[in-house]
Amino acid sequence: MRLIDTHAHLDFDNYNQDREEVLNRARKIGVEKIVNIGADLEGSRRAVKLAEKYDDVYAAVGIHPHEADTVNQKSLAEIIKLASSSRVKAIGECGLDFYYDNSPREIQKEAFKKQLNSALELELPVVVHSREAAAETLEIIDQTGDFAKKLIFHCYAYGPEEIEEIIKRDYYAAFGGLITFKNAQPVRDALKKMPLNRILLETDAPYLTPAPNRGKRNEPAYLEYIVKKAAEIKGISAEKMGEITTENADRIYNF
Ligand SMILES: [Zn+2]
Ligand SMILES: [Zn+2]
Repeated sequence: MRLIDTHAHLDFDNYNQDREEVLNRARKIGVEKIVNIGADLEGSRRAVKLAEKYDDVYAAVGIHPHEADTVNQKSLAEIIKLASSSRVKAIGECGLDFYYDNSPREIQKEAFKKQLNSALELELPVVVHSREAAAETLEIIDQTGDFAKKLIFHCYAYGPEEIEEIIKRDYYAAFGGLITFKNAQPVRDALKKMPLNRILLETDAPYLTPAPNRGKRNEPAYLEYIVKKAAEIKGISAEKMGEITTENADRIYNF
């Protein structure tokens, strides 16, 4: 099976002891590409370095809403500079997180707008992180520009109603370990509604480890459990799900 992990954070310290083995385990189950996502400026630098080191690792550069107060002219200029590497395939992750509220909401909104504008300028797709802020996230995107086919709601954590808005605007949604969690029926119901050509799979490693490995550190090899569960929910074979979501990832990240 050919698979693409569209969202992972292998630059984190969690992998300092065994990064090579983590990559090899992923390759062994058919993960042919991994997009390593920058979560802050330093993480974005590390993401580009990893992508330059490994042929099958690519990068996205951006600043997570948790770190929104670090988005300023200087950090944005560096994000844009990093994005000039041919290994960088998207801007992100950026967005709104009103669950943790680690940065004030107004500052999160400003930081998100700025990064959306950078993506437009650079003609790159955007990886959006949105938690407990569906309406506000959509509002800001709508106000900023046309992102049809060029935007991913990563770690889709909303329900079947919110997915209608995403379908209407022709965005992608990336599904991960959550779909294996007992208490995440609304996410599964959303996946049921999502057209096959707009579904992506991701691990968000080291977070959100899928069943049956919950409690352990997540890693791209566990995409195996996610593709199986997604296939079961959509009523197709895991092979077909792998094939379609890999084509989708190839398309949005322009591999
Ligand atoms: Zn995220
Ligand atoms: Zn992430």
